[in-house]
Amino acid sequence: MPKQCIFCSIVAKKLPSAEVYRDSDFIIIMDKYPINTGHTLVVPTKHYDTLLHMPPDEVGKLYALIPGIARAVVSAVGADGFNVGQNNGIAANQIVPHVHVHIVPRFIDDSPDGKWPARRVAPPEELDELASKIRLKMNLH
Ligand SMILES: [Zn+2]
Repeated sequence: MPKQCIFCSIVAKKLPSAEVYRDSDFIIIMDKYPINTGHTLVVPTKHYDTLLHMPPDEVGKLYALIPGIARAVVSAVGADGFNVGQNNGIAANQIVPHVHVHIVPRFIDDSPDGKWPARRVAPPEELDELASKIRLKMNLH
């Protein structure tokens, strides 16, 4: 584990997160600075800096999860659509250098100026509640 990787620490449960789900391959958590309500992250438990460091079959496994998770996220928050985003490198706005996929629910008219809605700091209680709602929609466990 690279020193001070936030996502490795969350995987190891050394840092708290609003967790939707975890297994040995990946965790699903709520983004602490959501672009929209329900902004969810899918994070492989194994550390890779970027998608280019990750074996392609693991990339495939990760992306195979996305439609099912996105369906649950959209349903949990009543969104009209969603964006899937995955940033690689500082130039691409990758804040945490550990591969993660963003699922961002979108609502009709949430960006009248055509830009991304501004990120905000979400209270932990709100994130925990959203995580529970999404978990219920996922039909896991
Ligand atoms: Zn990491």
